[in-house]
Amino acid sequence: MSTTTQTRTRRISQISHGMPTSDGAGVKLTRMLGHQGLNYLDPFLMLDQFRSDNRDDYIAGFPSHPHRGFETVTIMLDGRMRHGDNKGHKGVIGAGGIQWMTAGRGIVHSEMPEQEDGRMWGFQLWVNLPAKQKMTHPRYQEFSAEEIPVEDRPGGPVRVLAGSSAIGTTGPVEQIATKPLLLDITLAPGTEFTEAVPAGHTVFISVYRGEVSDGGETVKDPDLAVLSSGDSVSLKAGPTGASFLLVAGQPLGEPVARYGPFVMNTQAELQQAVTDFQAGRF
Ligand code: FE
Repeated sequence: MSTTTQTRTRRISQISHGMPTSDGAGVKLTRMLGHQGLNYLDPFLMLDQFRSDNRDDYIAGFPSHPHRGFETVTIMLDGRMRHGDNKGHKGVIGAGGIQWMTAGRGIVHSEMPEQEDGRMWGFQLWVNLPAKQKMTHPRYQEFSAEEIPVEDRPGGPVRVLAGSSAIGTTGPVEQIATKPLLLDITLAPGTEFTEAVPAGHTVFISVYRGEVSDGGETVKDPDLAVLSSGDSVSLKAGPTGASFLLVAGQPLGEPVARYGPFVMNTQAELQQAVTDFQAGRF
């Protein structure tokens, strides 16, 4: 009987340059995932990056709007975002902080800049929920930069936001259906990052400073790269180093019916979401 363990390193299989767009009341952002060229990376529905020093690009924010059937994850790199919802939950996400909001059966919330000028920089990731959890009660997990564990690796710091890293650090975001791993990685010039990731999970990276290479393809700030199947990731930073998010999760393999801020499994459920929202049942 063979006891050999084979490691298959994931390669860069697709690069998304993103689509400039605007959302909310006119916030300029770049849609890295959830556009025509890269529509759905099961279980990940969308990734937006917002990055601007110009207040006019973000000051209008995202006034009151609904969500049902999935999770929104806000990762702030710089600046401050205030949120509040119709269930009485409110707070401010600051630089280095994360909010993982399980919208479930429905919330109506606003996300507004908590600053008049300066840099606003961060990401919003949308993660799908399995059919059996789409109508769960809304839930928040929110952590400041100080509450997020940092691994001191040879190439640089790795912030563990969700899931457990291969060397045993567990992030504060927990009990998420799709078993995500969310790492925020910084590498010094020319150094390497390696990590085990479950085979069968969807994995992508979103580079926000410098560039990384798998030995063949190179992904540069601000691009997103989908990684092929395999059970490990190995990436090397370019000559100016790199910073990137690594996102992994278990695919759901369920039908997706999507209409703006509602993500369900069938058209009938979508129609019900619109009806419920209009009737004030969120
Ligand atoms: Fe929202």
